[in-house]
Amino acid sequence: MTQARQAESVCEVVEAGLCIGCGLCEALAPARWVMVMNRHGRLRPAPVGAEDPEADAGILSACPGVVAEAEARGDQEDPVWGSYTHMGEAWAGDSDIRFRAASGGVLTALGVHLLRTGKAAFVLHCAADPERPMRSRWVMSDTPEEVAQRAGSRYGPSDTLAGLEAALARSEPFAIIAKPCDACAVRARAKADARLDSLLVAVLVMVCGGASDLGKSQAVLDELGVAEDDLTLFRYRGHGNPGPTRIETRDGRHFEKTYNEMWADEAGWRIQSRCKLCPDAIGEAADVAAADIWPGAEPEGEDEGFNGVIVRSPAGQALFDAAVAAGDLVRGADHAPRDYDGFQPHQVHRKRAMAARLRGLAAAGRPVYAHAGLRLDALDSKDTDEEAGALRRAKAGRFDDEVPGS
Ligand SMILES: Cc1cc2nc3c(=O)[nH]c(=O)nc-3n(C[C@H](O)[C@H](O)[C@H](O)COP(=O)(O)OP(=O)(O)OC[C@H]3O[C@@H](n4cnc5c(N)ncnc54)[C@H](O)[C@@H]3O)c2cc1C
Ligand code: SF4
Ligand code: SF4
Repeated sequence: MTQARQAESVCEVVEAGLCIGCGLCEALAPARWVMVMNRHGRLRPAPVGAEDPEADAGILSACPGVVAEAEARGDQEDPVWGSYTHMGEAWAGDSDIRFRAASGGVLTALGVHLLRTGKAAFVLHCAADPERPMRSRWVMSDTPEEVAQRAGSRYGPSDTLAGLEAALARSEPFAIIAKPCDACAVRARAKADARLDSLLVAVLVMVCGGASDLGKSQAVLDELGVAEDDLTLFRYRGHGNPGPTRIETRDGRHFEKTYNEMWADEAGWRIQSRCKLCPDAIGEAADVAAADIWPGAEPEGEDEGFNGVIVRSPAGQALFDAAVAAGDLVRGADHAPRDYDGFQPHQVHRKRAMAARLRGLAAAGRPVYAHAGLRLDALDSKDTDEEAGALRRAKAGRFDDEVPGS
């Protein structure tokens, strides 16, 4: 078997298709890296000067393209879904949040609860760029109203961790709402930055099917004949569960696509390579992960908004219980891991396939990430088609990506 190796520079991470554009490069070394949309519509670090891998050692020790790890912190354990303290249905107590949020508003409600009770001074997360609402940018929300206003899933590139140093520089308790890969990066970074242990009160994530590049959203505009400069709103979902994708323009036009219309053609999803190689899209490094709970992962229509919640740590459980007691969150029926197999069959497949895909990459001479604590070897399907497919795609350059400006 070929020995797996890790990338040794930021550029190698990007070129090997292992960068998810989390933004940590820019946060840790703004004099060397700036996040830029590359020509494929992916946020990637662009070098400000000559690359210096030695100086970037701190980035590389937390970069999701090099390391993805999680520690078991729950009192229950499932081979597929990992460590947890509680699994169950929940939704926001505030009906307006529940309506406007992506699913049932759990992530927003937990953020609101933390700010309202003073347990956190702000939330680092992402929101639509007001100037270019098809794109997302990191934000720090200081009030419950700001967190609520920024509810909703953004199905494109997001670099929330580009705001990590700005958040830490405030020296105030804060929470992060982000993607599972961002949560792994934050936990890895905490090993080198003790401020994270003292200031970061909660890491909240969505269970994640994958982040599209910007071309997915651009294709919607092209189909409608709308120019990006004319947009005043690009809402991917919410205002219902799942709610429509809604587009509004400066001259008063508006368009909607249902969730199923938006995602019917899998070939057009334009999911980034790191997502196809993702070892943890279920938030094992988070305190709380929130998911959709449609049977077979497909909405049958609109509903009032429900989340499945996987509480991962004692701190996450204390937050969940306090939010329920305060009425910020409503607790529904309990779930068990096998319920999640039904809600998220694609996640089960991905977990089981990943060891074989990584073997295929290593056989092609490509770097892979380290993945302690994510059970990829124990779950290994040993699917030779997956391995051969990854090898073939790697050799054909299908995972290749570009550093902006290269
Ligand atoms: C790219 C993507 C893929 C997803 N795939 C799945 C899936 O396969 N299965 C599943 O069950 N659920 C998936 N979801 C999650 C689902 O859409 C909801 O986000 C989740 O159920 C939480 O709902 P909520 O109502 O609690 O979120 P809300 O209360 O609306 O809060 C959403 C929060 O997430 C933050 N956020 C939104 N988009 C992003 C982003 N791209 N990057 C970082 N932070 C973001 C916002 O800032 C906000 O704070 C996906 C979400 C995204 C963004
Ligand atoms: S995944 Fe994040 S840390 Fe790694 S290269 Fe990309 S932006 Fe930088
Ligand atoms: S699928 Fe994995 S790598 Fe892709 S955005 Fe989601 S958590 Fe990150």
